[in-house]
Amino acid sequence: MAQYDHIIVGGGVAGMTSALILAKQGSRIALVEAFPLLAPTIRGFKRKGVQFDTGLHYVGGLGDGHPLDIYFKHLGIADHITQKPYDHNGFDDFIVQKSGKHYSIPCDFSELTTRLNEWFPEEKNAIQHYVSAIKTTLEESPFLNFAQDFDLEKALHSESDTLQNFLDAITDNETLKAVLSYQNILYGVPPTEALFDTHAQVAGTYHLSAHTIEGGGLALTKAYERRLKKLGVHIICNDRVESVEINDARQVQGVTLQSGKALEAPSCIWTAHPRGLIEATPDSAFRPAFKKRLATLEDTASGLMLFGISDTPVAELDGRNIISWPGTSFEKNLSGRVSPAESVIYISAALDPHSGKTAVTAIIPAAFETFAQWADSKLGKRPEEYKQFKASVLDSFEKEIYRRMPELKGSVTFIDGATPLTIRDYCATPTGSLYGLRHSIDQFNPAPVTKAQGLTLAGQSIVAPGILGAIVSAYLTCGIIIGHELLHKELRQFA
Ligand SMILES: Cc1cc2nc3c(=O)[nH]c(=O)nc-3n(C[C@H](O)[C@H](O)[C@H](O)COP(=O)(O)OP(=O)(O)OC[C@H]3O[C@@H](n4cnc5c(N)ncnc54)[C@H](O)[C@@H]3O)c2cc1C
Repeated sequence: MAQYDHIIVGGGVAGMTSALILAKQGSRIALVEAFPLLAPTIRGFKRKGVQFDTGLHYVGGLGDGHPLDIYFKHLGIADHITQKPYDHNGFDDFIVQKSGKHYSIPCDFSELTTRLNEWFPEEKNAIQHYVSAIKTTLEESPFLNFAQDFDLEKALHSESDTLQNFLDAITDNETLKAVLSYQNILYGVPPTEALFDTHAQVAGTYHLSAHTIEGGGLALTKAYERRLKKLGVHIICNDRVESVEINDARQVQGVTLQSGKALEAPSCIWTAHPRGLIEATPDSAFRPAFKKRLATLEDTASGLMLFGISDTPVAELDGRNIISWPGTSFEKNLSGRVSPAESVIYISAALDPHSGKTAVTAIIPAAFETFAQWADSKLGKRPEEYKQFKASVLDSFEKEIYRRMPELKGSVTFIDGATPLTIRDYCATPTGSLYGLRHSIDQFNPAPVTKAQGLTLAGQSIVAPGILGAIVSAYLTCGIIIGHELLHKELRQFA
């Protein structure tokens, strides 16, 4: 039987990061991914010769010396990717449909303050309060500021209020509140339920710097693959972990794969969606209450996606995203239960260096339930009724894009689309959620350490959402295994 020090379940960003951290220490690692290739969430796909991004459009904190840059340097992948900055003066164009007003959101906290003061001159105190609270949260986070002494308790528990309560306490101006909340779409939880700390960590890192990677998620995946191979990680794709073997003393023994292959190790890091543990672990490993809790934890919404091609660069999307907001509540929007006409629309574009064309992706939140009647169908084998429904919702979505942004008509041609079922099946998550489990005030997501000896959890559902959240979770979990002091000492060398 193949023997390892650690088996990592899931070859997404969190799994690949965990594998590199532990392999750097000389451990023998098996990285198991159910999909035929690593990182199905971010590696994107090709249509009509054009490469499209899926789960990586832009990231915060990748500028020189910023947290994501430091992580990539520590992992040994920084030299294999080329950072591509978004427009520092306006990386997101937040458009309020009702007023037609554009809020072009800059990086840099002092520029952000200046811009907000110009837009909302009566609200200078509120703006100052918001910006300084975001900065303080970043400075105090041991995962975003490596000069901090590491404090596990602080890393795992937030005592912050909701974003909504924070905003209500500083201003009555609803438009300002919307401008300060639009980044909720980057983690899928509305201000009424989002923790201020989560918001600050997501929004704040984009105000440090906003980038994509030349060649997109595929280029990042290739950089990881290269390094994983170099460090001798045993990569097993196209075979899912069916069960984590845990003995009666609640100690991990290894895993069994769908192919029947068995891998032996005293340690297993589960980075797949936490709900997968219900089926994959023996009942004796956990108290029934734990599995019951896993079953009831709520996911962030999934999405409807449209993929388009433009032969020429799209000026409106050059170095920036468009977030078009119709004024409907963020609760309704992020539930994914609104029609395209009532929905926030996110649009992003990336130049495909090989074809020279621009790949345009538009996303709106969408509830899995809307497609649940076809939940038993598989990719490429969906029934006709589903196909018709998909075509009709994507058609409404496309019409809504052209209605709001007529300037895109004629330049961008949408050629394909995805529903929550597509996303579920590519990313192997239960409901195709864009950001895994909700990080919200009323939900306690599972901690990285479980009651089973040697079974730890990582991934965007555990501590924080998004690419950076998945990486932070890997550092947190690997720090628990090999020591936070050691990891932070290493990280500080790149800071
Ligand atoms: C449409 C979309 C757009 C996004 N845009 C952005 C963005 O612009 N910026 C950003 O920061 N974030 C974005 N995100 C979120 C980001 O992609 C995720 O946060 C990140 O990729 C999650 O990484 P992960 O490793 O935690 O999880 P995953 O990528 O889900 O990795 C888990 C892996 O486990 C595998 N798996 C599942 N079960 C098993 C099993 N039993 N055995 C073996 N393998 C298994 C899955 O196939 C999967 O590859 C987006 C997500 C989506 C879906």
